[in-house]
Amino acid sequence: MRTLAVKFTLAFLAVGISGALLVAAISGLRTRQEFARFVTERRGNPLLADLILGHYTKNNSWNGFGEWIDNEPLLDVVRRRIVLVDHDQTVVYSPLPEYRGINTAEQDLGGGIPIEKDGVRVGTVYDVNRFAAGERFPRPSPESFFLRNVNQATGLAALIAGLLALALGILLSRALTRPLRELTSATEEMSAGKLGGQVNVYSQDEIGKLASSFNHMSSELAQASRLRKQMTADIAHDLRTPLTVLRGYTEGLRDGSIQGREDLYELLHQEVAHLQRLVEDLRTLSLADAGELPLQRRAVDPKALLERAGLAHVVLAKQKNVDLSVNAPEMLPSVVVDLERMTQVLNNLVTNALRFTSEGQIILSATAHSSFVTLQVADTGIGIAGDELHHIFDRFYRVDRSRSRDGLAQSGLGLAIAKAIVEAHDGTIQAESTPGKGSRFSIQLPKQAN
Ligand code: ADP
Repeated sequence: MRTLAVKFTLAFLAVGISGALLVAAISGLRTRQEFARFVTERRGNPLLADLILGHYTKNNSWNGFGEWIDNEPLLDVVRRRIVLVDHDQTVVYSPLPEYRGINTAEQDLGGGIPIEKDGVRVGTVYDVNRFAAGERFPRPSPESFFLRNVNQATGLAALIAGLLALALGILLSRALTRPLRELTSATEEMSAGKLGGQVNVYSQDEIGKLASSFNHMSSELAQASRLRKQMTADIAHDLRTPLTVLRGYTEGLRDGSIQGREDLYELLHQEVAHLQRLVEDLRTLSLADAGELPLQRRAVDPKALLERAGLAHVVLAKQKNVDLSVNAPEMLPSVVVDLERMTQVLNNLVTNALRFTSEGQIILSATAHSSFVTLQVADTGIGIAGDELHHIFDRFYRVDRSRSRDGLAQSGLGLAIAKAIVEAHDGTIQAESTPGKGSRFSIQLPKQAN
């Protein structure tokens, strides 16, 4: 896996190496060229100086130098390139006639090829191009010329390398920051209320991980928002039915169109009890959500827990011809739980099992593991289909709204509350089921520390 740190290091390395290679290549090439020229000039100078000195020696002056150089075949090429000044720095010869006779003593000409007779400088030869270009020094010495050109080449190479680094830097940083820009606009959309937006994951590095986490968070938020809306609608729906019933009957009783009877009062009582249970369930859930579910925890024997839940349902089980049994070893490690809350969970599981099992078996069992104890409620009832199994712990989820117990509407909160209570005990709860064969709910609770 390539991390961002590695990518940055490689990018800097690529920029650095390409810059260095470019500088090395350009300045190396120019240095080779300049060195070749330097060597030629160095070798050529004595010959040129000797020839010019030969003329001077012959005449003992620079008189007739112009005619001589014009007719000297050895200086065919050079003649159009040189300026000759005498010991006074007065221009004796130049291919450009306007320079002839000019005195350059005031100027710092520097360099040039000295023409010396018996150790005394009688003249100097300069390059005409430099001279004509108006430079104060027509021709630097070959050494300084060489150095200047090499320096120029190095400067140029550094400039090109800098530009290349800039271009590479822009390209690389754009590529590296692209996912960040996408993330920024996605978070802006999210803060504007559009939940669920996803970004592309381009890599497995830190930014790729950030993008994946963002996508996960975004879909979780969208899901949470959907659930919240759904829950509000479900609460409103669940409150409306009993309230409508209550209102209808109480209005009838008030205006005398209905006579009070025992079965009517029983019905009204059931509706009020249902409302109360619903409000209590919602309160339990909101306390659990806030992590504030009050728990009176103490060490409890898991077998006793199961027996307590079994006993509460044994009569109903008999009536339904269901065999309800508890199957747990004697010496089980204790679990530290709120007895009432955990009984509520088990009661809910056993009630559900009884609801969906007729003439079968319900087994409550407990087993010990290294660090936890598993409590199970298994039935041989109708079971739950695979796609529904994922949702049964969701709030207000009812597999089939028509499956209602004893004609009373079920809220679909029972398992959601069971899960919230188990999790408040640092435990987990899962369900397995085979449609037509039965279901098994398992609760894992941490065992009491010694
Ligand atoms: P409720 O509070 O309405 O009983 P629950 O949250 O307890 O709802 O259960 C959710 C759904 O899971 C129910 O609608 C029910 O159909 C299904 N279910 C729960 N336990 C069982 C079981 N043992 N066998 C078959 N279906 C079950």
